[in-house]
Amino acid sequence: MIRLFLLFIFTTTLFSAEVHRDRWLNGETYLVFLEKLSLPIRSLYYNLDKDDQRLTEEMRSGVHYQILRDENNSIEQLLLPLNDELQIHIYKRHGKYKFEAIPIISTTKTEAFSAKIVSSPNYTIMKYTGSKKLAQIFTASFRNSLNFKNDIRKGDPIVMIYKQKYRLGELFSMPILQVAMVEMKHKKHYIYLNDDSRYYDEKGHEVEGFLLARPVRGARISSYFTKRRYHPVLHKWKAHLGIDYAARRGTPIVAAGSGKIIYASRMGSYGNLVKIRHADGYETRYAHMKSFRRGIRKGKYVKKGQTIGYVGTTGRSTGPHLHFELRKRGRAINPLRVVQVTTKKLKGKEKKAFLKLQKNYNESIDLHLNNQTKFKKLTPFVSKCYIHSLRSKTDETDARTKPNN
Ligand SMILES: [Zn+2]
Repeated sequence: MIRLFLLFIFTTTLFSAEVHRDRWLNGETYLVFLEKLSLPIRSLYYNLDKDDQRLTEEMRSGVHYQILRDENNSIEQLLLPLNDELQIHIYKRHGKYKFEAIPIISTTKTEAFSAKIVSSPNYTIMKYTGSKKLAQIFTASFRNSLNFKNDIRKGDPIVMIYKQKYRLGELFSMPILQVAMVEMKHKKHYIYLNDDSRYYDEKGHEVEGFLLARPVRGARISSYFTKRRYHPVLHKWKAHLGIDYAARRGTPIVAAGSGKIIYASRMGSYGNLVKIRHADGYETRYAHMKSFRRGIRKGKYVKKGQTIGYVGTTGRSTGPHLHFELRKRGRAINPLRVVQVTTKKLKGKEKKAFLKLQKNYNESIDLHLNNQTKFKKLTPFVSKCYIHSLRSKTDETDARTKPNN
């Protein structure tokens, strides 16, 4: 059983502590951040175990974090989101600052809108919703199957249904597309998110995304990707932002996709590390290598499937394995979701289940089309709010939750 403080509860109880929101700056490191706020580096970094230290490297520029200060302007608490599941919680207890990783509490809503094309879909969605993310998702979804440039006309209808996370009353994390529809030349084109977490077109053919090869052939996966996991022995929250492939020392590691090597050197707990930049903001990382293949260095281009190095156990590693990461615009994503050598065609039972899901989605789409569902704009964030102070009535603000794995 762990105790989670429900920190930012909006309430009318007037304690004079204030929450401020700020953005993590480009290039800012956790240590520089602590120094800037005059927070103790020893207890909040150097005394942490390696896993927690690794977590602090996950802060990304542009992320919103919260600071709670007391009446003397001294920092009481900090919440630094690492991904959409886990956050660093720094808090003061008996005059000392403590560090912990805790789950992020967010709510998810299903939202939808329909719009009529004014020029390109990208422009239309941007103009209509103000959301670059929604525009990006829509265009990327149809990129390989439709030719908007030639075929789309002014007035063509589009509909998007997606899931959006909210945290503290604000938009949080990337929206997840459930279904998108565009009608061109009186023909409707769809993309559906199926129960297997993959996207399919109206015929039940998988939509090709970013295709990766497996970085070590025939290797066993010894540890899976998770944005948050409760460690039953250590009693703490951790993350594993990659996949571990256990293999014998010296087994060749291949580039999962074609791209440019942007790093090939030692890096702290990663050991010998190669980073490859791919198209569309994707990046792959290969850690703990025994050695690099001859000629593999920064600036070089590699092809998908080309050997880049060999399995080892350099850096913080308990045995020979490859720690493999996939990132999109800095954000860690589950490689297994995109590792696929062939695209899938649904058949049999799977196809039947898909057709049912498709029928439901199509009904929703028609409903939104007929009602001309408008995009709901969020009311602006209030930057100051009053909350329960942690020092008083602690029990009232405690939420007890079971860790879920
Ligand atoms: Zn790993």
